[in-house]
Amino acid sequence: MRPSFTGFECCFCKKSIGAEGEAQSVVLTATNLSDWSSDLEEARYQQLFAHIACLMENWKGRVSWEAGVLVNSG
Ligand SMILES: [Zn+2]
Repeated sequence: MRPSFTGFECCFCKKSIGAEGEAQSVVLTATNLSDWSSDLEEARYQQLFAHIACLMENWKGRVSWEAGVLVNSG
């Protein structure tokens, strides 16, 4: 059984992401690139949460998103 939902905070707008906003939000995972490149087993990571709209608004990268990543498939 899933633990009771406490909500997440968007790393861009700082607003909370409630259960009703999950379908319009994503989890981003950060790992030090050198740890990731060497496939370090104990590499630490941090997860950040964001509204998809906030991510797209602040996105400066040229890499395009893979199909389905920003879409709720559930
Ligand atoms: Zn946001």
